[in-house]
Amino acid sequence: MNLYGDPPSDPWGSERRCRRCDALMVYNPLTLQFECTQSHEKLTIYEQNGHTDRTAYLESLAESYGVSFAAVKTAADILGEIEDFDSLITHLEDGEIVDREEEDLD
Ligand SMILES: [Zn+2]
Repeated sequence: MNLYGDPPSDPWGSERRCRRCDALMVYNPLTLQFECTQSHEKLTIYEQNGHTDRTAYLESLAESYGVSFAAVKTAADILGEIEDFDSLITHLEDGEIVDREEEDLD
């Protein structure tokens, strides 16, 4: 631990440490967040993965896989947040989440 050195370029690195007490944060599967055991700080799994929130994460998925945000959001809501980093990705990789713009309404 280096308390007086320069901060790393990546403030989180590969570990999740509380910015107040520097303790290793623990993942809470109930809240889907990394939390300081002293309740100083919480970090959502989206923040941990470099996105400001779930919407930003889903938008990045939509862009990565070339489908609309609406299609990703609909599938994500059906699967549930717990699957955002699991089966949602699998469905995207398998091409099972597609846009429905081609439906002819006339
Ligand atoms: Zn703390």
